[in-house]
Amino acid sequence: MKRTEQMSFWERLYILEVLRGLAVTNYHFMRNLSLHIAHAFGFARNRSAAVTTQYPEQRKTYPEGYRGSHRLTLREDGTVRCTSCFLCATACPAQCIYIEAGEHPDPHVEKFPVRYEIDTLRCIYCGLCVEACPCDAIRMDTYVHPRIWGFDRRDFVETKELLMHRSRVVAEKGRDGNMDEMMEWYADQARQVYNPLRGELRTYSERELPQKWEEKPDEPDLPALDRHHPPHPNGR
Ligand code: SF4
Ligand code: SF4
Repeated sequence: MKRTEQMSFWERLYILEVLRGLAVTNYHFMRNLSLHIAHAFGFARNRSAAVTTQYPEQRKTYPEGYRGSHRLTLREDGTVRCTSCFLCATACPAQCIYIEAGEHPDPHVEKFPVRYEIDTLRCIYCGLCVEACPCDAIRMDTYVHPRIWGFDRRDFVETKELLMHRSRVVAEKGRDGNMDEMMEWYADQARQVYNPLRGELRTYSERELPQKWEEKPDEPDLPALDRHHPPHPNGR
């Protein structure tokens, strides 16, 4: 049976449903407005009015299982834990993970990501990449929202360096550290946007990280393997 056949004649006119929706919206708007005005004059203190959280200046405390932006976890020596197995990229339904793998000089580690990027404009935050990872190399426990604005598409592509940096922030500053950093970035960007003498704006991933975090762990500086045209096993 078609959906429209289940609806009554009046529902299929839609106009009544639209008016009913407007009535509900207006009722809540007028109720909250009246209560806020009454509170301002010291009346009806025992009746609470709805208050909108002024994000990003105000934030709620998210539950432990909150699925936020990604981070790449680190080994004890500070190097990236990811072994470039591509399972996360394969599982990703939005195809927003881009990896270039390089050979690792440590014989116990087959590969590492020379490049690891997540296009957050395509990501749907489903968590399948985290589920697919066999070595706990990627997590979504940063309590960071996706970025809400940027100046070009690159602003929304999160690089390996940024994803690793988030793990250092979690270790050093705790669960709200990354969100605090993003708020500082928003404020800095807002100042620069209105500065007529500004230079070229940097993307979130290209920003200058604190000095101690610029000292990258020893990772081999080797060319990336092309995932679509891997080298021939006989070296040809
Ligand atoms: S959360 Fe989902 S859509 Fe986003 S990168 Fe992971 S698998 Fe892809
Ligand atoms: S993050 Fe995990 S699943 Fe993705 S390539 Fe690295 S090791 Fe493999």
